[in-house]
Amino acid sequence: MVVDYIRRILIVSLLALCVSLLFWSGSAAHAEESGISTWVFPADGYITDHYGTRGGNHKGMDIGGEHGSPVYSVDEGVVSKSYYSSSYGHVVFVKHPNGYETVYGHLHERAVSEGQAVGKGEKIGEMGNTGRSTGTHLHFEVHNGEWTEHKDHAIDPYLVFGEGETGQTVFAKEHDPYQVREVALKINEAQQPSFLTSGIKVPNENELHVVAKGETLWGISQVYGVSTSQLMKQNGLGDSTIISGQQLIIPSGKKSVHLVKPGETLFGIARLYNVSVDDLLVWNEVQKDDPIIPAQELIVNKD
Ligand SMILES: [Zn+2]
Repeated sequence: MVVDYIRRILIVSLLALCVSLLFWSGSAAHAEESGISTWVFPADGYITDHYGTRGGNHKGMDIGGEHGSPVYSVDEGVVSKSYYSSSYGHVVFVKHPNGYETVYGHLHERAVSEGQAVGKGEKIGEMGNTGRSTGTHLHFEVHNGEWTEHKDHAIDPYLVFGEGETGQTVFAKEHDPYQVREVALKINEAQQPSFLTSGIKVPNENELHVVAKGETLWGISQVYGVSTSQLMKQNGLGDSTIISGQQLIIPSGKKSVHLVKPGETLFGIARLYNVSVDDLLVWNEVQKDDPIIPAQELIVNKD
């Protein structure tokens, strides 16, 4: 058992390192190709809603923040629309050279006009509460292709920036808007409360994971194939903040489907779920040379 924990900790640490390197160097093949691995986050604030909520009709993510605070273009591009609509309120659309289009809604004020070229991280407006909105926030959409009325090309912004959670603080002009790694590293071990090192009773069939430096709740959830909300519930956590040395109870239960993220490979996913690449090929009826694409669902467990 102890050997197993150590093995898992090593795997988690390696994965955390790999993920960090991927983001920092931007070497993820797909993400690099499309350039989205270098996008910056559009606003300061905290996450108030996700892509895919409201019966699947919410095609963007919401960031609550200070009224009048700056909203930035995630990448260079040309302003394709800048107008007022009854739903979006004051809204700016930016088309990027890689074919993606991003949308910034409910603005208090627009700072750019149609046809204008904008740089990465350039201010395009101010956060507001215009249109169909019930509080100051930025509604942000990413389209892999052109925006259409039915938002056919909308993708989850988490595929660009990594998965966040409601209430989580986000920072503008960073590719890692959550800055979770930095926060985890900043916490001095001397500041750790005593409950972290006291014994924890682990219910039957569950496992115990000791958080290593730099790990995130999301990273750990991926290794064990559970959701971050399951982890939070099981451990009575109010948010996703974890610190080095903390003991987490991992609920039993295996995840069977994996949502592919930019830059992932079949090999990496096989490692993640402790299965073979050949198993993945058979379960998903794909060939070794078939490309896997972000947002694709892969069967990763056949019990
Ligand atoms: Zn929204």
